[in-house]
Amino acid sequence: MIDFELSQKVQAQKDLIRSLAEGAMRPISREFDEREHEKPWDFLKMMWDVSRGQSMTGENSREDPEAAKKSGPRENTLTAAITIEELSWGDAGLYLTIPNPGLGGAAVSAAGTPEQKKRFLTPFESGEPKWAAMAITEPHCGSDSAALQTTAVRDGDDWVLNGTKIFCTSGQMAAEKSDGFVVVWATVDKEAGRAGIKSFVVPAHTDGMSVIKVENKLGIRASDTAMLVFEDCHIPADNVLGSAEVAKSTEGFKGAMATFDATRPLVAASALGIGQASLDLAREELEKRGRPIRYGISDASLTAMESDFIDAESDLHAARLLTWRAAWMMDRGQRNNLEASMAKAKAGLAVTLATQKAIELMGPLGYSRKMLLEKWMRDAKINDIFEGTQQINMLIVARRILGYSSKELS
Ligand SMILES: Cc1cc2nc3c(=O)[nH]c(=O)nc-3n(C[C@H](O)[C@H](O)[C@H](O)COP(=O)(O)OP(=O)(O)OC[C@H]3O[C@@H](n4cnc5c(N)ncnc54)[C@H](O)[C@@H]3O)c2cc1C
Repeated sequence: MIDFELSQKVQAQKDLIRSLAEGAMRPISREFDEREHEKPWDFLKMMWDVSRGQSMTGENSREDPEAAKKSGPRENTLTAAITIEELSWGDAGLYLTIPNPGLGGAAVSAAGTPEQKKRFLTPFESGEPKWAAMAITEPHCGSDSAALQTTAVRDGDDWVLNGTKIFCTSGQMAAEKSDGFVVVWATVDKEAGRAGIKSFVVPAHTDGMSVIKVENKLGIRASDTAMLVFEDCHIPADNVLGSAEVAKSTEGFKGAMATFDATRPLVAASALGIGQASLDLAREELEKRGRPIRYGISDASLTAMESDFIDAESDLHAARLLTWRAAWMMDRGQRNNLEASMAKAKAGLAVTLATQKAIELMGPLGYSRKMLLEKWMRDAKINDIFEGTQQINMLIVARRILGYSSKELS
């Protein structure tokens, strides 16, 4: 059974992050939205000190079900989801800048061998701030990852990568501004389609990997989103994620896809944070204007504003329950591919609608830059795009419920 009561440990983490969000993120929110591409170094260094060694931003792997039975389930993914919701309540763009293994680390956790996890993730426990990124999307391939064109060719003890990756979150920080790494999806055999795709770890500063540009964006402007080019980029043979056997078989692609089971609930959690921030602010403002939201009265007595507000709030809460369920299953070693997509699709939509509603309820002030609502509306939309768009996650849900393969329902 799911227990809806947060453990003391998780609640304490939630409270700590809320105070950081209020004290360290909100005050610099507007500044680093406007100064896109500049890094909030004081904040980043502070967060590096706070977060090292903690499961803060998604370096989760699926718990082994047998181990979970013996030791009791972990709460890593749930804790990460709650932490990310709070950080994104502070500022989703700043949250994405925090040095950590991020999406690249999630890929290593999901698909790497124990030796690879140790080799690539341990450096994130000490030293200078580090970032890791995941590069899947290409100029002509996003949703349909099987169509990717980046190649990996074996050359003696190396793999040699060639190709272009776009819209890579924290790509610049991972590739050239720290000692992190980029996980790159590439094909070892174009004819083989999905079966030919593997993920490769490219350490920062590797010759042949370059950052070509950093995007100007609608929202999450504090976060860098980079275009990376790989030209005869040599990496060691054992930087392909998974064991040598797995790396040779179609399991390599399955392992890579398993990354999404861990990351989608976390993207959903970020969406919840932005949505909650918008509704909290709108509720407070309405109260100041003498129009408090009256909970617990009959539907017929609600004003249209109250009814709209409560609808948006309920929708967000439904998304939160789906998100917690997907995280909870991950922590118990259960397959959560359906639940992860449900959470991501629902939260992406709920936050898009909640931020728009909050602006509407505030009238012209909501649209102005005096409030952060317009920023939050811009920040919200990305949750419907990265880690699988709204439509792609709905497609996965439909396939799983109806029992169709990706060929049968595309
Ligand atoms: C700020 C930002 C950060 C990002 N970070 C990363 C990152 O770190 N790493 C990374 O690899 N990528 C990243 N991306 C890329 C993102 O994951 C892709 O944009 C996304 O997967 C969609 O792919 P696409 O852009 O090629 O769109 P397309 O696949 O071309 O889709 C375009 C539209 O068509 C719809 N569509 C496509 N196929 C179907 C279908 N079968 N049925 C119904 N509708 C469909 C999509 O939902 C979408 O609305 C980022 C993007 C942005 C904007």
